[in-house]
Order: sequence, then C-alpha cells, then structure tokens
Amino acid sequence: MIYEFENSVNEQVNLAKEKGIELFIKREDKLHAFVSGNKYRKLKYNLLQAEKTSYKTLLTFGGAFSNHIAAVASAGNLIGFNTIGVIRGDELPNKIEDNPTLRFAKANGMKFKFVTREDYRNKTSENFLNALNEEFGEFYMIPEGGTNSFAIKGCEEILTEKDIVFDYVCCAVGTGGTISGIINCSKPSQQVLGFPALKGDFLKDDISKFAVQSNWKLITDYHFGGYAKINEELVTFINHFKSDYRIPLDPVYTGKMLFGIMDLIEKDYFPKGSKILAIHTGGLQGIEGMNATLKKKKLPIII
Ligand SMILES: *Cc1c(COP(=O)(O)O)cnc(C)c1O
Repeated sequence: MIYEFENSVNEQVNLAKEKGIELFIKREDKLHAFVSGNKYRKLKYNLLQAEKTSYKTLLTFGGAFSNHIAAVASAGNLIGFNTIGVIRGDELPNKIEDNPTLRFAKANGMKFKFVTREDYRNKTSENFLNALNEEFGEFYMIPEGGTNSFAIKGCEEILTEKDIVFDYVCCAVGTGGTISGIINCSKPSQQVLGFPALKGDFLKDDISKFAVQSNWKLITDYHFGGYAKINEELVTFINHFKSDYRIPLDPVYTGKMLFGIMDLIEKDYFPKGSKILAIHTGGLQGIEGMNATLKKKKLPIII
C-alpha cells in the first residue's frame, strides 16, 4: 500500500578525506518509482484527507514536465482516485505522446485540461474554480506543487531521530513546502540550507509562513538562470556524480542542490568535521523530458 513506505536510507558520498567533511544523501527518491521523494511526502496526508472526506477525484495543477503531475497520476491510479491535471500550455493537447510526463500521466488514467498561460496564472480565482467544478463535478483540490498544511505535515516525517547527528540538512526548494517540513522536524542546533531551483525572493516569505523555527537559510547562487534552466556544466556535473557515486540526480532540483553543496565544500564554506545530510527529493522522471530539450539544443544529455 502506498502509505507504508516510510523510511529511506542515508547513503554516504565518499569525499576526499582532506576536507574533513562527511556527506550523506537521504535517498527519498527510492521510496517509489513515480510517487517519488518529496512528492510522496506531500501527497500522503492529502490522500488520506481526500479518502476521509469521500472524494472520488483529485484535481491538481502543473507544467508539462511536472514531477507533481506524474506523482498525482500514479498515486491516483494506485489507490483508486480519478485524477485531473490542469496543465499550463494550451498548445500541448497534440503533444501528449511526445512528452514523457504527460504520456505517463495519461497512461495512469489522468484526464487533462490544458489552459493558456493567462488562465493558469488565474487558476485559483473563484471564476476559474467554479468553471472547473462545472466541468468535472466535485473534486479534492491539491495546489500546484502540492504545498499546503497537509503537505508540510508529510514533509515533517522526512527526518528521523537518527538524523540528529547531522550539523547541516540541505534540500532543494521549489515552492518551499518541503523545506518547511524539514525545518519543523529539525533540531534547533541543526542548520537547514535550502537551494532554490528558481530565481526570486518571494520564497523566504512563503517558508516563514509554515516554518516554526529560524534555523534555516537560502543559498541562492545555484539556480542556473531559473526554473528548469540548464547548461552543459550542470549536465556534466550530474553525469560525473552518477558515475562517481552511483547516485542519479535530476536536472531541475537535486542536480542544482548537489552542484551547490559540492561547490561550497570546495570553497570551505562548511567547518572541518561538519556532517551534512542532503535530501534526495526525487524527480528522476524529469530526465527523459529534459534530454529531449538538450538534444534539440545539441547539448550533451544526462546518462
Ligand atoms: C517538487 C520538487 C522539489 C521542490 O519542493 P517544494 O516543496 O515545492 O519546495 C524539490 N525536489 C524535487 C525533486 C521536486 O520534484
């Protein structure tokens, strides 16, 4: 059953000894192939709530390569909800079969509503939601990226008692839901570092809304130009990381975070003797879609 995989393993990355740093990766990506990493954590209590309140249908929002869309489609299929994805981009209906994420979601029974970028921006307006209700009937709504208080509650289960040995806990940041849960279950003596995958300073306020402690900080130097932006240096890093440490990283979130962590280690940001735990939040389903983009740009692909 989908609610039962609770704990993931911390794997050590063998760094050069002279830095005196220990780095471990919490393999949340291994929780499930598609309801992966933090998307599982964020969905868990939402799904339980939807079941409790007897909804038959889940509706959510996302872009064409969204890990969240893939996770909702897969979870709905596994536990018996209808799923509806409101997808940004009204040019996409003919491109479902070319897009690995949408193809996967469709194969898992998700129905799509493709909307213009303008409608997508207004997706939480009363008018828009009323129109959705008229079209699809009653549904349990999960916000874009899955962030709400149920999601934070799920992410508060990412760290376990054993993880108090770490001085730093690092995670990638999109909407800030995951890091908020991690902050809430960290010890005050631990420092939580967030690596935003996008530009913008709205994140700090969003995180402050949910986070109950102030032992956290955003490291904003590693977004590579913005959300889902990528360059050859990042692709090469992801490929080397996989061949050196046997750990695959995704190009949108965990690749950028680990690039940042390794760069900070190189620059002696962390005091000697520091123990660092980096959360692998999953997202590996996005590699195939990103590789199609890289091929078009004649850049090397992720292996
Ligand atoms: C969605 C996602 C994130 C961002 O999570 P937020 O809770 O939105 O900050 C990080 N990593 C991966 C792999 C994701 O899919």
